[in-house]
Amino acid sequence: MTAKLIMGTEIRETILEELAAEVKAIQAKHGVVPGLVTILVGENPASVSYVTLKIKTAHRLGFKEIQDNQPATLSESDLLALIDKYNKDDSIHGILVQLPLPKQVNEKKVLNAIDPDKDVDGFHPVNVGRLMIGGSEVKYPPCTPAGIQELIVRSGVPTAGAEVVVVGRSNIVGKPIANMMLQKAKGANATVTVIHTGTKDMASHCKRADILIVAAGVPGLVKPEWIKPGACVIDVGVNRVGEKVSEKTGQKVAILKGDVDFDAAKQVAGWITPVPGGVGPMTITMLMLNTLKSLKFKLGIA
Ligand code: NAP
Repeated sequence: MTAKLIMGTEIRETILEELAAEVKAIQAKHGVVPGLVTILVGENPASVSYVTLKIKTAHRLGFKEIQDNQPATLSESDLLALIDKYNKDDSIHGILVQLPLPKQVNEKKVLNAIDPDKDVDGFHPVNVGRLMIGGSEVKYPPCTPAGIQELIVRSGVPTAGAEVVVVGRSNIVGKPIANMMLQKAKGANATVTVIHTGTKDMASHCKRADILIVAAGVPGLVKPEWIKPGACVIDVGVNRVGEKVSEKTGQKVAILKGDVDFDAAKQVAGWITPVPGGVGPMTITMLMLNTLKSLKFKLGIA
């Protein structure tokens, strides 16, 4: 068997086209566009490149975008004052603070200061609680888990009654996707097992999975013999395992590998995401979807 590839790069394009059309229609009818502010403190190169990509995508969709770059020396109180300003700004529907923050700033305090109704990253405890309750309580599912669910649903993978095994229990991937997949809802309603470093006999759990979601950050952790034939394998891991010179640019680029032995796993699985090009492209896409949702909540049309 050779697995069908779940290409995040392609699914992203479809979703972005849908979002752009919706933004246009809302602008025509209500005269407003989604407003997103990205707050970047300092010049961490990885953060700069993430923020640049977020801004580019927001522009492509016709959002109002404010890029608020601050020096690495910014105090915690000044950052809290900035968040307060955007919390009160009616033209801003999503506030994104790029992590990590410099040492003098308490990250938790800053994230908790964002108005939960503008927390399009979905990390505020209020939104974590809403996600746990499920149903109409949910406002902003965190972006990477939301992207994973979207990949599964849009690929036609059945979820109701499926055995879902999630490897990893982080607050940004493992716990939220496990919680989302067990909800009594479309694209979910599964029986979920969560694996971590305290799990005994990880292989036996993985072998049961109709949908195996791996977010451990350990290259090649999941072996092909752990995969049930025909299963859907979602590899969230992004691991830098070396460098190579890009044929396109002549510049050094990272060699990325997932948490699954891709070449061998695709011979057994029914569906599989590649790394890169699978889950990765979905995160920013879902951030845009959440920002548009925030405007729709405000207009009462969500
Ligand atoms: P994390 O916070 O380091 O959590 C890793 C989880 O995996 C932990 O719960 C850990 O268990 C578990 N784990 C690690 N090694 C294990 C092993 N040998 N056996 C069983 N469980 C193991 O990582 P994360 O933030 O969730 O990210 C996971 C991976 O996804 C990383 O490679 C990251 O780069 C990638 N990622 C990609 C995207 C994207 O594509 N957009 C977004 C986020 C993350 P314990 O809790 O017991 O320590």
